[in-house]
Amino acid sequence: MSIRQKVLFKIKNVKLDKIEPKKVSTYFGENTFNTDVMQKLISKNTFEAFKTWISEGKTISLAQANEIANAMKEWATAKGATYYTHWFQPMTGLTAEKHDSFISFSGSGKVIEKFSGNKLIQGEPDASSFPSGGIRATFEARGYTAWDPSSPAFIIESKLGKTLCIPTIFISYHGEALDKKLPLLRSDESLNKAAVGLLRIFGHRDVKKVFSTCGPEQEYFLIDKNYYNLRQDLIMAGRTLVGAPSPKGQQLEDQYFGTIKERVLNFMFEVAQEAYRLGIPVMTRHNEVAPHQYEFAPIFEESNIAADHNQLLMELMKKTALRHDMVCLLHEKPFAGINGSGKHLNWSLADDRGNNLLNPGQTPEDNLQFLAVLSAVLRAVYLHADLLRASVALAGNEHRLGANEAPPAIISVFLGEQLTDILNMIEKGVKSKISKADIMDLGIGRLPKFNKDSTDRNRTSPFAFTGEKFEFRAVGSSQNISTPIAVINTIIAESLDYVSEQIKKTTSTGKDFNASVLLVISKIVRETKDIRFEGNNYSEEWKKEANKRGLPNVAATYEALEALTKKENIDLFERYKVFSKEELVARYHIWIHMYNLTLEIEANTLNEMVNASIVPAGYEYEKLLAATLDELVRLKKSAKLKIEEPALRDKKEHLSEVVSKIYYVRRNASEMVKLLEKARKVSDHKRAELYFKELKPLMDHIRKHVDQLECVVSDDAWDLPKYREMLFIK
Ligand code: ADP
Ligand code: MG
Repeated sequence: MSIRQKVLFKIKNVKLDKIEPKKVSTYFGENTFNTDVMQKLISKNTFEAFKTWISEGKTISLAQANEIANAMKEWATAKGATYYTHWFQPMTGLTAEKHDSFISFSGSGKVIEKFSGNKLIQGEPDASSFPSGGIRATFEARGYTAWDPSSPAFIIESKLGKTLCIPTIFISYHGEALDKKLPLLRSDESLNKAAVGLLRIFGHRDVKKVFSTCGPEQEYFLIDKNYYNLRQDLIMAGRTLVGAPSPKGQQLEDQYFGTIKERVLNFMFEVAQEAYRLGIPVMTRHNEVAPHQYEFAPIFEESNIAADHNQLLMELMKKTALRHDMVCLLHEKPFAGINGSGKHLNWSLADDRGNNLLNPGQTPEDNLQFLAVLSAVLRAVYLHADLLRASVALAGNEHRLGANEAPPAIISVFLGEQLTDILNMIEKGVKSKISKADIMDLGIGRLPKFNKDSTDRNRTSPFAFTGEKFEFRAVGSSQNISTPIAVINTIIAESLDYVSEQIKKTTSTGKDFNASVLLVISKIVRETKDIRFEGNNYSEEWKKEANKRGLPNVAATYEALEALTKKENIDLFERYKVFSKEELVARYHIWIHMYNLTLEIEANTLNEMVNASIVPAGYEYEKLLAATLDELVRLKKSAKLKIEEPALRDKKEHLSEVVSKIYYVRRNASEMVKLLEKARKVSDHKRAELYFKELKPLMDHIRKHVDQLECVVSDDAWDLPKYREMLFIK
C-alpha cells in the first residue's frame, strides 16, 4: 500500500464538545478596544481629542496618548493579555508582529505592567529583512511602526496566552510607506477631498466627509491535513504543481450552494465566532463552485477597517482549519481544471450623513448626482485599466487572469441593462421611448426613474455594478486588499475632480446647472464607451472585440506591473499624494522580485517531486511491466504458453510508453534546472519574462506527462494524494 493510501484511514472529523451557542450581540467585538470601551476608560477631554484626531487629523498630545495607552493596557491586562505588539502589513502581503511584554521594573526593582504613550504611538521593529524595494539602504535599515488610531486595537488569543495587537502603519526613517496600509489611508484622504468637492457643487453644504466602503468576499479551499502533509507542492507553493484531474470535477454543479458538510460547518462556526469576538462582521458563508471550495463574506465597512479585518479573517481561517485537522488554501489556483479563488472587492462611496453615493436615490437631483458619480467611475476605469490590472498582478493570480481556463485579463465595466439604456439615452439626448411613469422630468430633458434592485448580474465581468456598489472581481484570494482599494480610490478621486471641474466650466458659461451636469455626463459616457461590456467576458468573441477597441489584455504579471513605472501613472499618484515616485517604483521592484521567487520555489519543488517521488514510482511500475513481459515471453517459449501476438505487442507498447513518459519527465526537468541557472544571470525584469515565456510552459509540459503517468502507474506505487481524494473525500 502506498503512503497515500494509508492516509485514507486517518481521515476523520475531529471530536468536538457540544456547546450552547451564545447570542452574537452579547459578545460581538469583546476582544476589541473600540471607541465605546475607550470612552468609558478615559477622560472626556482626551476622548474628544481622540475623535477630532480621527475625523480631522489633528494629533493628540503625548499626555493624552499616555492616558489612552494606560487605558488600553488596563483593559488588555484585565482580559489576561501579557504581551503587546504593533501589528502591521509589510510588503510581503501578510501581517507582521513583534511582541513585547508589558513588564518593566519599578523603582524598587519589582516587576510591574507598564505601557506608555510613546510605545503606543511609535515602535521600531528591527525590520531590516522586510522587502523595501531599495527604499532603505542597509545603513538606514530602520523601519518604524506608527499607531493607526482609525483601526481599533484587538486581542489575539492562543491556548496559553493573549496578546494585545495595535494596528500600525510601517514607514522608513524618511517617512516613506514600507507597507500596504499607509497608501490606502492616503488614498482615502484624497478621495474624501474630491468627493466632498463634488457634493458641494451639488449643493450639499453640510457634508463633512466621504469615504470608501468595502466588503471583500473571500473564497478558499479546505482539504484534510493528512493529504496536505503529503503534498510538497501545497506545503511549499500553496498549489498543486502536478495532479491528474479527477473524473468528476465541478461539471455536475452539485457543490455550489450545496449542503455544507458537518466538518466544514463546524469550521465555519468557529471562524465566525472568533471573528465576531474581534468585531469582524462575517455575514455570509456558503459552498462555492469547485469541490471543497467555500466563501465567507462580511458586512461592508470603511475600507481601511475592512482591509484589516480581511487580513485578520484570513489568519483566523488558517489557524482554525488546523484545529479541525484541515488546511485552508488561500492560493488563487490550488487545483488545475476547476475554479480558482478570488476575492470579490465590493466597493462604494459613503458620506458622513449615511448616504451611499452610488445609490440612485429618490429625487431627480439625486439621480443626476448618482449619474455624475457613475460617470466618474466609468472614466476612471477607462483611463486607468492598466493600474487596476497592476493592482492584482501576482504569480498566483496569473493562473486566474488570462490563463487557459480563466477569464481574460481585460478590464471592462458591466452596468446592467437598465443603466445601459439610460446612458445610451443620455448620450443620444433621446427623451422618448420610455413610458410616462418611468420618467422623471428634470425640466431639461428627462431621466428615467431607476430601481436599484433591478440590476442584473453578470458573473463574468471584472468590474460590475451590482446595485449601490461596484464589484472588482479580479482580486486574488490571497491578496491584501489595501493596494487594489488604494488604486480604485485614487483613480476615482481624479475622475471626481475632473467631473467637478467640467461642471464648473460648463456652468460658468451661464448654462443651467442640471443641463450642464447632463452635458458633462453625456460627454464622458460617449468618450468612455469602449470600457463598457455587457456580454460574456469569458468568450473568444470578447477577446477579439476588446482588441478591436484597443483595450489592454495583459496576461503576464511582469508586463502588468510595468504600469507602475509609467510617467503619467507616477504623476497621478504623486498628485494625489498616495505614492511618491520612489514608493511606486519600489513596489514595482518588490512585486517583480516576489513573482520570480514564487516561480523559483515552484520550479525547485516540482524538480524535487519529479526526481524523488514521481520518477521512482514510475520505475517501480516499469519494473513490474518489464518483469511481467519477461516472464510471459519466457513462458511462451518454455511452456508453450499461448499468447496472441497483439496481446504481447500491447504489453510491449505499454512498457515503451511508460519508459518514454519517464524519459520526457526527466528530460524536461533537467531543462528546467538549466533554465533556472540561465535566469540567475539576468535582471529581475528579464528573469520574470523568461519565467513567464519559458519556465511556465516547461512546467506545464512536465505536468502533462506526470499527470498521464499518474493515470497508469499502479495505485499502490503512487504516493502523492490524488485530486479525487483531496477534493472528494471529506
Ligand atoms: P454576491 O455574492 O451576490 O456578490 P454577497 O452578499 O455574497 O453578494 O456579497 C456582497 C458583498 O458586498 C458583501 O460583503 C456586502 O457587505 C458588500 N456590500 C454591500 N453593499 C456595499 C457597499 N455599499 N459598499 C461596499 N460593499 C458593499
Ligand atoms: Mg460577489
